[in-house]
Amino acid sequence: MPASRFRNWNGSAYSTPHVVAVPRDLDELIAVVKDRDAYPSPLRAAGSFHSLNACFATTGTQVLLHEFKEVRVDVALNSITVGAGHSDQEFC
Ligand SMILES: Cc1cc2nc3c(=O)[nH]c(=O)nc-3n(C[C@H](O)[C@H](O)[C@H](O)COP(=O)(O)OP(=O)(O)OC[C@H]3O[C@@H](n4cnc5c(N)ncnc54)[C@H](O)[C@@H]3O)c2cc1C
Repeated sequence: MPASRFRNWNGSAYSTPHVVAVPRDLDELIAVVKDRDAYPSPLRAAGSFHSLNACFATTGTQVLLHEFKEVRVDVALNSITVGAGHSDQEFC
């Protein structure tokens, strides 16, 4: 995906990545992390850009994880594993 400009929720912080990666699964994410030529450093994940500072900002690669929507329920272990693409609000 071509470069974009991202801002946090109130416009106090910006990210101007050279490349934006939107992996659809773990294999694609691993490929992004390993290919430093196509996906230059610094590589930084972002969620919903609700941070109040520039911790998500990069001039290298922005990784968007909104495709990671998997939810795994393990009743035996009494645990739920939630993908990075979900927001807390979806579970409230
Ligand atoms: C109106 C408002 C109300 C808020 N209320 C609360 C509150 O009640 N309680 C509270 O605790 N916080 C609150 N926050 C703060 C906010 O929830 C946190 O800043 C949170 O980190 C934002 O998550 P995000 O997905 O938007 O992360 P982003 O801002 O996108 O990223 C934050 C950091 O996490 C990293 N990151 C993001 N996703 C991943 C990932 N999948 N893997 C690895 N690293 C990742 C980024 O690189 C960056 O360093 C509030 C913020 C706002 C604007």
